[in-house]
Amino acid sequence: MPDPNPRMPALFVGHGNPMNALQTNAWTQGWAALGRQLPRPRAVLSISAHWYLPATALTATTQPPTIHDFGGFPRELFEVQYPAPGDLGLVQRVSELLRPVNARTDVEWGLDHGTWSVLRHVFPAADIPVVQLSIDATQPPAFHYELGRRLQPLRDEGILVVGSGDVVHNLHAYAWGRHPVAAFDWALRFEAKVRELVLQGNHRALVDYEALGRDAELSVPTPDHYLPLLYVLGASDSGEPVTFPVEGMDGGSISMLSIQFG
Ligand code: ZN
Repeated sequence: MPDPNPRMPALFVGHGNPMNALQTNAWTQGWAALGRQLPRPRAVLSISAHWYLPATALTATTQPPTIHDFGGFPRELFEVQYPAPGDLGLVQRVSELLRPVNARTDVEWGLDHGTWSVLRHVFPAADIPVVQLSIDATQPPAFHYELGRRLQPLRDEGILVVGSGDVVHNLHAYAWGRHPVAAFDWALRFEAKVRELVLQGNHRALVDYEALGRDAELSVPTPDHYLPLLYVLGASDSGEPVTFPVEGMDGGSISMLSIQFG
C-alpha cells in the first residue's frame, strides 16, 4: 500500500501574468505536468504575493471566494472561478505551528490570482482544499524565512506548501505587448544568482537578498513577489533534491522560474 502521507515536496512557483490562468503555454503546461507528477496532497497551503498586508492571516472559510485582484484584463479572466474548499483544520494547525506569531483568521479574503492562476492548471478539478497564508508587509525577510521553518512539519502531514510570486518581478520594465522581447541582463543575472544560491543551500544570502546589489534592486523593486520564496526555502530541508520544473523569463523582466524541494 502507498504511504498515506508521503513527505510532500515544497514548491515555489513563478506565476507571472494573470492571463496565464486562461492560456496554454510552456509555463502552464509545466504546471499541469506538476499536477500529474506530485503526490496528491491532502490540502494546499498557499503563500501568495498578492496577499501582502500588515498582518499574518489565514483564510478561514469553508468555501473561499475566488478573488479577482487586478484591473484592466479581459472579462473572461474576471469570470474564472476556482471553487476549491477551505480547510479549517489546517487553519488551526498552521496557527499552532506559527506561534508565538499570532495569525489572525480572515473570513473575507479567499483565493487570489497568485493562487488560482496556477492551481487551475496544477489541480484543475479544484477538489483539493486550499488555505492562504498572508505575507506580513511590516516584517523583514528573516521573519518570513522563520515562518517557513515553522511550516516544515506540514510536509509530513500531506500538505503541499506553495509559495507563489516571481523571483524577478519588475512591472515597470515589463513588455505588456504581444511581441516577445529579450530578457534584461540584470534579470537573467539575478535569476541565475538565485538558482546558484538555492543549489548551494545558501539560505542566508537568499534571505539577505537586498545585499546582492543593483541586479537585486531591479529584480525585486518591492518585496511582495520575492518573499513567498523565503517561506518555501524555510520549509525545505538541507540536502534534499532541488529541481526547477518550470523556467523562463516573460516580457523581459518577470521570471517564471519554479523551484521544487523534495
Ligand atoms: Zn503577481
